Amino acid sequence: MMTTYIIGHKNPDTDSICAAISYADLKNTIVTTKEFQPARSGNINDETRFILNKFNAKDPILLDDATGKKVILVDHSEPKQRPENIDKGEIVEVIDHHNINFQQATPIIFHSEPAGSTCTIIAKMYFEKNINIPKTIAGLLLGAIISDTVIFKSPITTEEDKEIANKLKPIADINDLNKFGIDMFNAKSGWNKKTAKDIITTDYKEYELGGKKIGIAQVETVDASELEPRKQEFLKEMKTIKDKSKLDTIIVLLTDIIKEGCIAYILSDCTDMIEKTFEKKIKYNEMYLPGILSRKKQIVPPLEKALS
Ligand code: MG
Ligand code: MG
Ligand code: MG
Repeated sequence: MMTTYIIGHKNPDTDSICAAISYADLKNTIVTTKEFQPARSGNINDETRFILNKFNAKDPILLDDATGKKVILVDHSEPKQRPENIDKGEIVEVIDHHNINFQQATPIIFHSEPAGSTCTIIAKMYFEKNINIPKTIAGLLLGAIISDTVIFKSPITTEEDKEIANKLKPIADINDLNKFGIDMFNAKSGWNKKTAKDIITTDYKEYELGGKKIGIAQVETVDASELEPRKQEFLKEMKTIKDKSKLDTIIVLLTDIIKEGCIAYILSDCTDMIEKTFEKKIKYNEMYLPGILSRKKQIVPPLEKALS
């Protein structure tokens, strides 16, 4: 029997880690041979650590080379976000809620839904198959839904996310979802202990849009103003990443989940295009984007449209 690794994107977030663990649990419950192994493509961030500790879950194993491995991708399909050397391994299944960027010669199970999180889709599978959800797994699923939907404030949120979360609440023994969410988002602050590089790379994704290479980091905070005094440090680190990865544009979104908006720091070779796209002027490498909470729904698609 060959192990199949279940793995989320690079710079894993809570959804990537919790989807890997819970989908492995579901698969292993169905087949009972324990051949599915949760894995991760990078370090566990502080928010995810909070969730894993709270619900007593084990870390997925680190898989930094997919050569010769059978792999199920969760929470991404984008080639740039897949594990290293996946082309020398085999992707056997995908479960995701993002843009679809996937091509393969052989048919596989490709499960894509416009849900708020991958864990919404996985929770739904448990319910549909009438499989008991262990308390730990319910907690992880709930944590990932609350994280990806920013406590249901993000425009990616669907009615189904809320329904599923409400069904998971009693199983995970969580009474107040809002408090649970704020505690979780607070767990990843402690900014003064972190370098600008750490803060930027925790949730950083690269995209190839209309021939341009764009890097976008999202820093979710309960108070974005805490980070503003460090703007120059951010810009310096952004310049380093931009040069090293040969990017046309790098954007760091300081997302304030309470005020519901982003301070965007921007270094770009195409500022005109960015200003036109968001109908705002960039002043001192900065623009404020009220109402914007989702990179996936509110930042990437308009950029993709502008560049196509
Ligand atoms: Mg993710
Ligand atoms: Mg996700
Ligand atoms: Mg997120």
